[in-house]
Amino acid sequence: MAVGKGIREAVRERASGLCEYCHASEEWQFVRFTIDHVIPQSKGGGDDLENLALSCRNCNERRGNRCEAADPQTGSEIAIFNPREDRWNDHFCWDESGELILPRSDKGRATIALLDLNDEFHHATCQKVRKRDVEDGYHPPACDAIVGHGGAPAVDGSRERAGE
Ligand SMILES: [Zn+2]
Repeated sequence: MAVGKGIREAVRERASGLCEYCHASEEWQFVRFTIDHVIPQSKGGGDDLENLALSCRNCNERRGNRCEAADPQTGSEIAIFNPREDRWNDHFCWDESGELILPRSDKGRATIALLDLNDEFHHATCQKVRKRDVEDGYHPPACDAIVGHGGAPAVDGSRERAGE
């Protein structure tokens, strides 16, 4: 049931201390990040390294045990971002300000909506934190794509939501 300490530390190291969904850095948080089961335990997922991901509390709680979410542009239920199978930069990039995660795929768009990666429906706290972190020079992570800086353009309508 519980993931052992050695495995937890291996998950942290592999993730370079970043939430594998929203790419917040654990280094600057009061609360330690959680260990997410990519395939939930309730769906038979195990405690092995290949089924685990580092996740901030927001992303873990908002995800729950879901593996699919509605793409806000089409309404179709599709698989969400899988940090063990998918590359972050294939599905997400930062906007020019570094405050917003933009989708580069349908999967990215559905994941942003499910996990509310830009906190648009939870007081936008993370946007404020990202703004400060950009000013302080440690955000976005160096490995991340930024729109217009060598990355492919983001999918159009990134901020559109069903019903908005
Ligand atoms: Zn997160």
